[in-house]
Amino acid sequence: MNRIDLREKLDQSDMVLVGLGEEFDDRARLRRNAEYTGLCGRLKDEGAAWLIPAWRELCSRRMGEGPVNQALERLTGLLEGRNYFVVSVSTSSRIASSPWREARLVMPCGTALRKQCSGGCREVLCQVTEDEQARLQEALERAERGLSLQAEGEALLGVCPECGAPLVLNNIYAENYNEDGYLEQWQTYMKWLQGTPNRRLLVLELGVGMDFPSVIRWPFEKAVFFNQKAFLCRVNERLYQLTEELAGKGCGISQNAIDWAGQL
Ligand SMILES: [Zn+2]
Repeated sequence: MNRIDLREKLDQSDMVLVGLGEEFDDRARLRRNAEYTGLCGRLKDEGAAWLIPAWRELCSRRMGEGPVNQALERLTGLLEGRNYFVVSVSTSSRIASSPWREARLVMPCGTALRKQCSGGCREVLCQVTEDEQARLQEALERAERGLSLQAEGEALLGVCPECGAPLVLNNIYAENYNEDGYLEQWQTYMKWLQGTPNRRLLVLELGVGMDFPSVIRWPFEKAVFFNQKAFLCRVNERLYQLTEELAGKGCGISQNAIDWAGQL
């Protein structure tokens, strides 16, 4: 589906449900980046998997952010003025900072933009400052050179005022992931979704893999299955096929979602 076909589909729809997947983490390029994969393994081994979203973004910036930025610009442009909702399992800060409609984005896997208590104190949740972002980058660069992530006893993001445990980034890779970071926005999404039956619904599932299928992939399929006026456009490098039940109600495009959106 190219830009013209998509415009036509958008014009024929009352509501647009958009899913942004793992491919928006720039994974196709990162997979081929030995520095990225090497340190990822170490972060997991050292109990610092919560740093993975920040590490991805650092590597992605080094490779040049052009493709992802262009894809997001095209998408926000095409969706402008329409009744849409975006669900992202990507943790990309660029998705968080794109000019979507007010309160029409939910990121259930978190980001590298907020910090939480590693011990799980739910009320502790705040923005990461620019200084802290710089500190995280320095730590990642130290780790890249084979040094330790942090000095003994030092907490990169400070400690929890409630229990004294180190603070970590608020994302799904954190040991005690604090879901309060997105739950309110998730309720808004659920309400929006309740308004879709019997409406002409266009579902754009872009680059969604099988890391978190219960967040986007399966519920989107269900939404299309139960809505007679729904159409699913699934774009994915490898997992682009539609299930048999959805035959005739959509299309599967075998292309990386960043590349596809960038060409719209
Ligand atoms: Zn705590």
